[in-house]
Amino acid sequence: MPSPILIIGGGIGGLALALALIRRGVDVAVYEQATELREVGAGVQMGANGTRVLHALGLKDALEATQVVASGKLARLWNTGQTWTTFDLSAVSQERYGSSHVFMHRGDLQAALADAVMRERPDAIKLGQRFTSLTQHDDGVAVTFDNGATVHGALAVGADGIRSPVRAALFGPDRPEFTGVVAWRGLIAMDQLPAHLARPVGTNWLGPRGHVLHYPVRRGEIMNFISFVERDDWQVESWVTQGTSDELANDFKGWHEDVHTIIRNIETPFKWAMMVRGPMPRWSIDRVTLMGDACHPTLPFLGQGGVMAVEDGYVLAACLEKYFGDPQTALARYEDIRRERTAAVVRKSHENRRSAFSPALADPNRVGVEVAREWQQERVRERMEWLYAYDATAVAI
Ligand code: FAD
Repeated sequence: MPSPILIIGGGIGGLALALALIRRGVDVAVYEQATELREVGAGVQMGANGTRVLHALGLKDALEATQVVASGKLARLWNTGQTWTTFDLSAVSQERYGSSHVFMHRGDLQAALADAVMRERPDAIKLGQRFTSLTQHDDGVAVTFDNGATVHGALAVGADGIRSPVRAALFGPDRPEFTGVVAWRGLIAMDQLPAHLARPVGTNWLGPRGHVLHYPVRRGEIMNFISFVERDDWQVESWVTQGTSDELANDFKGWHEDVHTIIRNIETPFKWAMMVRGPMPRWSIDRVTLMGDACHPTLPFLGQGGVMAVEDGYVLAACLEKYFGDPQTALARYEDIRRERTAAVVRKSHENRRSAFSPALADPNRVGVEVAREWQQERVRERMEWLYAYDATAVAI
């Protein structure tokens, strides 16, 4: 191709694609609206299907410098704190799927990707570039930013997240539907927590109107807190809207003291209204396509949105290399390979959302039965094997 692949968005997906293309010798430029690459403070879990791709891109050592492999998993009851030890994927992931299941700070993951990109191409990432529009020509794409600059490339990829302006430019505005669920997130310095909470284990608190999840990140020095609550008075979809500790505590009124100890120690709680969008019939027009949350935004109830963006990046790079000079074929093949799998993640995350808020979770006896049935090894395998066993580095292109 005569000129670079233009990637709009320098999040997990855009950087994974950039690195995968660089590894294949393809010229790229990443345009990110932020003026510095400082990923929002939050955790992300990467199942074996994600770490397998990141390791294939040469990031194993970089991830190991900060990742956490948990040493156990707990389910706890929202009000009494009753605790069940449940099957922990982290313990079997390497042996069963050939790659680790890890917890990471998103900033550490983004830095590992960005550092690797910049080591190979020091000027590949352009910051402070907010995409506004694009124009397609017979032999390329022109992309314009809000500073008035226009750049030209062989092809453009919208890796610009859940509210993707590139998607809007291609297909028009969307109409997301509010789920009635608000998510909270925050980070806590592990050394501020009492010893029984400051442990390298993942914990899910089960309750009737809400769900709380916490796990260690950054070498175990930080705890990542995510919670979901049913309420309909807040409908803004944003990573960066701050709430208050009082509001968060109020959403979990009546929950166990351990939950409130964690909430009290969150430096800055952020809130995010959970929206759903219907599946897109196509992701590409001519020489422009989408990846990650831009084309298959998902609820976070499978912990796979970021992993799907990483898989997309690897497969898209392979398609662009194989069908070099024939962008339409490359993008058609990419969509063929990725559409059904990502749609299944969206569907199943939605189903998991329903079970996470089941009224049955108000009754401790029912929770015990549910945990014993659904969280044991064979059931977890049945539910999750198709995700973790998938190898994006080996699919036929
Ligand atoms: P993003 O990470 O959103 O990156 C998009 C980038 O585009 C950003 O850097 C943005 O600044 C940039 N951008 C936007 N507009 C423009 C513009 N106009 N011009 C230039 N740049 C622009 N996934 C997991 O795999 N595991 C988890 O455990 C997990 N937990 C989650 C928990 C919660 C509460 C939520 C909400 C999500 C979670 N996810 C998880 C999902 C995951 O965060 C997303 O799927 C992932 O970040 C998508 O990556 P992306 O690169 O497509 O988009």
